[in-house]
Amino acid sequence: MACKEDTSSLCPDCTLCCDGTLFSSIPLAAGEADRMEARGLPLIRRGTGTSLPQPCQCLNANLCTHYEDRPLQCMQFKCGLLKSVEAGERTTDETRTLIRETSRQITKLRELLARAPSTPDTHPLSRRLAEATSSLDSLPDPGSQETRRGLAQERSVMESHLKQFLD
Ligand code: SF4
Ligand code: SF4
Repeated sequence: MACKEDTSSLCPDCTLCCDGTLFSSIPLAAGEADRMEARGLPLIRRGTGTSLPQPCQCLNANLCTHYEDRPLQCMQFKCGLLKSVEAGERTTDETRTLIRETSRQITKLRELLARAPSTPDTHPLSRRLAEATSSLDSLPDPGSQETRRGLAQERSVMESHLKQFLD
């Protein structure tokens, strides 16, 4: 049965699959790497595989600047929330509420990350969390340890939110 809900307005409110929250990189299909490189985009090359690092430099003001010509992986990706709307398990409004709650949680986490050393915001969120935790572990002062505990707590809440996107 076709989905009766229009999900097209949800992604610009979210962008978690482009901004380094859900993924660290996007694998590129054969031929896509040259196209992306010609546009000046940075690539990760490992062995025979090439990927587009996240947060994606194509993301601007919550929109993909290469939308018409985006990688196949991006064209085909549907997160768990979009799939649940298409399956009639959630309405668009319910999903938008979940996206907003998740975004608020991630904002809280990013505010805590800003208090930790060595966490450039050009890195994906999972890497920033690992870097922050490691740097805070070596700082015994009460303020750093409070930030460390706050990060662990907010990270756990965030992960429970993100499960719904990865289902
Ligand atoms: S995570 Fe889902 S709702 Fe968010 S931008 Fe990606 S596909 Fe859209
Ligand atoms: S190319 Fe576009 S759709 Fe793909 S990750 Fe980057 S911003 Fe998102």
